Amino acid sequence: MKPEYRIAVLPGDGIGNEVMKAAEEVLAALQSRTGVAMAMSYQKAGAQHYVDSGVALPDATLKVCDEADAILFGAMGLPHVRGADGTEIIPQLDLRFHFDLYAGVRPIRTFKGLPTPLASPKAAEIDLVLVRESTEGLFYARGRGETRPDGVYDTMQITRKGTARICEFAFRLAERRAQQKGRPGRVTSVDKANVFASMAFWRKIFEETAARHPGMAADSAYVDAMALNLVMKPWTYDVLVTENMFGDILSDLIAALVGGMGMAPSGDIGDKHALFQPAHGTAPDIAGQGKANPTAMILSAAMMLDWLGDRHDDTRLKDGAGLIERAVEDVFSAGQARPFEFGGTSGTADIARAVIGALK
Ligand code: ATP
Repeated sequence: MKPEYRIAVLPGDGIGNEVMKAAEEVLAALQSRTGVAMAMSYQKAGAQHYVDSGVALPDATLKVCDEADAILFGAMGLPHVRGADGTEIIPQLDLRFHFDLYAGVRPIRTFKGLPTPLASPKAAEIDLVLVRESTEGLFYARGRGETRPDGVYDTMQITRKGTARICEFAFRLAERRAQQKGRPGRVTSVDKANVFASMAFWRKIFEETAARHPGMAADSAYVDAMALNLVMKPWTYDVLVTENMFGDILSDLIAALVGGMGMAPSGDIGDKHALFQPAHGTAPDIAGQGKANPTAMILSAAMMLDWLGDRHDDTRLKDGAGLIERAVEDVFSAGQARPFEFGGTSGTADIARAVIGALK
């Protein structure tokens, strides 16, 4: 069968390798059912590669990513591997900037059959997407921190272009979700407009964008209040859009709402390229034990299929994404697997096997 889609695969470090293997197996099983062929090109990058070769993200890897239809990414970084300035090796950030992957899309929902840390029965209704601006904000300061005699200064960058495009992305996503789910849509901007001029500017651009999407409800919240509300009533939100650093922090918070990092997929999407990866890191504390929950990686692969399906107008891919999502739902709702992070005993390979078995 002729490969139709070229996927650059970067497993990375720690559990990145383990969860990637699980996702590949699911994709391979899906190929035989959907008739879609994918050529997977494995590429080196990450903290271990930096130790081995002195380079974290080789040019050859960047070239393959550039030419690929999509990038599938595990996790990278190891706590003991540091660059000269003391920071960790984080090629995923370099990829976001290099390919202008400005929209970090982090969907979260509760899965029947798995417990959530929230006591309210309403937690079963959690179904939201956090859209994180990924190319500026406070992360603009990465590698640019200014050292002065009295201390170090990191600057936040909020541009009109960067804010307008991420807000537009969030409204379009909300419109799509509203259509798919047959209910009204809503976008909530998360900022700190009461304190920072940059954030007041962000809110102004958000409100201008909202005015162009009168069919969607729109509101704004301060990030501190949002941290509270995401624990008290996360089921009331639909699409959230926020600055890079706030998004980084709130991503982990929303993953916790549904039970753990192993359930949180993500896509880093630009106008030309897109990269899909679990929201979690390399989890050195459990690496090498076969205990990592691969669900986030498997769902990230489904997001990749959905994105490719839209981009290439290929319904087979969109159907494939739906098949994976339903298989994951069925596995957990039928109690066929319970990941270690939920107190169960299903390892990475067990969950992959169960999902493959449930692909219909
Ligand atoms: P990063 O800074 O890259 O986000 P981190 O070390 O802060 O990395 P993670 O690697 O995501 O964070 O790990 C946070 C916690 O979540 C750890 O206790 C880890 O074991 C757990 N964890 C992360 N991913 C998974 C997974 N797929 N399955 C089970 N537990 C996980």
